[in-house]
Amino acid sequence: MDELRDMLTEHGATLVGYADLSPLPAEVRAGLPRGVSLALALDPPIIAGIRNGPTAKYMELYRRSNALLTELAEAGAAFLRERGDRAEAWRATGGIDRGTLSVRTQHKTLATRAGLGWVGKCALLVTERWGSAVRFASILTDADLPVGEPVDESRCGECAACVDICPGEAPQGVNWRAGMERPEIFDAFACARHMRERQQRAGDDITICGMCIACCPYTLAYLRRSGIDPNAP
Ligand code: SF4
Ligand code: SF4
Repeated sequence: MDELRDMLTEHGATLVGYADLSPLPAEVRAGLPRGVSLALALDPPIIAGIRNGPTAKYMELYRRSNALLTELAEAGAAFLRERGDRAEAWRATGGIDRGTLSVRTQHKTLATRAGLGWVGKCALLVTERWGSAVRFASILTDADLPVGEPVDESRCGECAACVDICPGEAPQGVNWRAGMERPEIFDAFACARHMRERQQRAGDDITICGMCIACCPYTLAYLRRSGIDPNAP
């Protein structure tokens, strides 16, 4: 489906992949058998700036990226519907179940099924080229798409950078495999609790941290290729 990929990249998507979702339970894919995973690579200087903690610039980038990704997902879904396919945009954020801090359809599940990357020890989607400095949105569809080869296992290996740096002690130090439940590798409540306490101390509106993104060796390689020295003061 080159036309869809071209349209999404022309409008700003960095990465587009197609996923076979049919092995997943029908309720997590709205009964639709395939998915489109689309991503934005995040601005390298801003990512380098969160090595030691969150910044207002990163929060602004996070909000801006989510808004663009949601627009892209809606445009892609409209494109497919005009062709006569069923399609549902799954926005970049929202739809969180407060009891589990999880969503019905995980963007990272689509991304791994599309072959774009794996789930790191920090529970973020990690790509070979941009590390975890990427954000995702998704489209669920019945369109006939050339699906990618799923990634079923972590490529973190012995790395524990995000485990060691996390001030909330959220990553459990476990390598992901497809089908694992998030609590086996990551305590989302510990991450949220740390951020809530940090926000109360700082008295700002920054609700995300991102240190686990900036320390990842795959992210650091992306920053270096972008001409940034991650160790510069
Ligand atoms: S966002 Fe911050 S607190 Fe949450 S897992 Fe990453 S490093 Fe830990
Ligand atoms: S920092 Fe290391 S363990 Fe964490 S996601 Fe990146 S490669 Fe995996």
